[in-house]
Amino acid sequence: MSELRQIAIYGKGGIGKSTTTQNLTAGLVEHGKKVMVVGCDPKADSTRLLLGGLAQKTVLDTIRDEGEDIELSEILREGYGGTKCVESGGPEPGVGCAGRGIITSINMLENLGAYTDDLDYVFYDVLGDVVCGGFAMPIREGKAKEIYIVASGEMMALYAANNIAKGIRRYARTGGVRLGGIICNSRNVDWELDLLRTFSAELGTKLLYFVPRDNVVQRAEIHKQTVIQYSPNCAQAQEYRNLAQALIDNRDFVIPKPMTQERLEEILLKFGKLDADYSI
Ligand code: ADP
Ligand code: MG
Repeated sequence: MSELRQIAIYGKGGIGKSTTTQNLTAGLVEHGKKVMVVGCDPKADSTRLLLGGLAQKTVLDTIRDEGEDIELSEILREGYGGTKCVESGGPEPGVGCAGRGIITSINMLENLGAYTDDLDYVFYDVLGDVVCGGFAMPIREGKAKEIYIVASGEMMALYAANNIAKGIRRYARTGGVRLGGIICNSRNVDWELDLLRTFSAELGTKLLYFVPRDNVVQRAEIHKQTVIQYSPNCAQAQEYRNLAQALIDNRDFVIPKPMTQERLEEILLKFGKLDADYSI
């Protein structure tokens, strides 16, 4: 039996972490993999496509309503292809640290025996540009040893990715956490593939996969499905299958070397200039 890979997905808000994680999960399911997805975003929409809607009551809401004495079946639902789906949730708006929900949830999942031997992958879909406090929990406590950053060619996405790399580096020194690569979720920025390859190399990692932007993602989303379910024969479905294969095959795990703000801007300028040169 293969060893459980616990993977954290980080990246700027709205970059496509939840979409990519669930579509990737659908790709892994086709490979016969057993997957659990743990949403670690107060938005609690990390498993919506796998569950066919926001069918999931969050761990924090369940604990608030019923106390600590809960059943696993109340917080873990089966989704597409037998995937296990959990949403940590968050505190009531304006109250407390949102990251705490993650700590509470993972502890609860462990106590209730959610990490069964048949699992191949656990994904933590984590909010945020920062790897601080509770949001660092999956990597700080050594739960997830393997990390991927979702980014695009947009400056803020790369800025966030570089900051996340700083957080990973901090925890890599004391724990076993490693960066597995960058996943580009394309925003159709000029020279995006070259930019992301350069950025990844500068961090000491690689571009794991380049996911194109495609409106079929929105159409599938409206139908509360992953692209692989909604339109299994379309090109985008194949992209997600390829991403799943790239993840299965990946063995390159590194301690990232974050760059200075100046260096990041230099790289952005270089590709921005290429764009200007070619558009004349
Ligand atoms: P995050 O989880 O990082 O906050 P989401 O996964 O919710 O981001 O994605 C934000 C939006 O971007 C979603 O509405 C989704 O439909 C869209 N999106 C994500 N990836 C793609 C893609 N490859 N092509 C087109 N739209 C995408
Ligand atoms: Mg999300």
